[in-house]
Amino acid sequence: MTTPEHILLLAGTQEARQLAGRIAAEFPQLRLTASFAGAVRDLPDLGVPTRVGGFGGVDGLVRFLRSESINLIIDATHPFAAQMSRNAALAAETLSIPVIRLERPAWQAGPRDLWQSVASMNEAANALAPGARAFLAIGRKEIQAFTKRSDIYGLARMIEPPSPPLPASWDLILTRPPHSADEEAELFRARHITHVVTKNSGGERSYAKIEAARHLQLPVIMIERPKLPEVNSVPAIMELLDKTREFLPLS
Ligand code: NAP
Repeated sequence: MTTPEHILLLAGTQEARQLAGRIAAEFPQLRLTASFAGAVRDLPDLGVPTRVGGFGGVDGLVRFLRSESINLIIDATHPFAAQMSRNAALAAETLSIPVIRLERPAWQAGPRDLWQSVASMNEAANALAPGARAFLAIGRKEIQAFTKRSDIYGLARMIEPPSPPLPASWDLILTRPPHSADEEAELFRARHITHVVTKNSGGERSYAKIEAARHLQLPVIMIERPKLPEVNSVPAIMELLDKTREFLPLS
């Protein structure tokens, strides 16, 4: 009996959730293992064998890939989870196994959008006008770039609380983003928000804030994506399944 091909799915996004089920259904003869960073507590059940926590850098990942006889890595992490994507590309190169990255398209500004594109969290923090009341759709590990601005008010929304805590005069909303632009606009109005700061995550899941900012004609400080190593990239799940068939033709 031959050993089945084994895919590692680097998860953490809505697409990864959908992918786990699709891969399991379309390639029942393959082994599939999903992996989460474990940064949030309410991890979804992907319905496939799943491990949680870092691998221990590139070396740790190489060890894991070897010991699990992984033949293909599917990188469906968040566009800003750059360290994981870089580690995956390097480890795969070391072992000469393929990586397919699911890279959802970035958001593009329309004619009514008032965006300022920046390259980093620090640049975004520096771009805020003195006295700004900023809505910060920024994760717990990144918020410190903004808290050094003692002259602004911040309304931060994230999933897990930051450490150290936010300045006393700021507000924190611990939740995932709502789907409705009306809800976002209501929040921005109620807190007298003057600027929206966000990563260019792409996708529909957190687009409501962009629509709300457009509706209220609020300036958006858009943090553009980090540069990642070149690997096989696809924009959506269908293309990813096709590419998987290309790399594992006997499956
Ligand atoms: P990161 O900087 O790329 O990853 C940091 C470390 O976490 C990695 O080096 C790896 O540890 C571990 N890790 C990340 N994803 C993993 C996975 N799927 N399986 C196993 N280990 C994983 O990413 P981050 O610190 O998690 O997040 C950076 C940005 O991405 C933030 O803006 C965050 O809001 C956004 N984001 C990330 C995720 C996610 O699932 N990672 C989800 C939504 C949004 P080792 O080096 O020890 O292997």
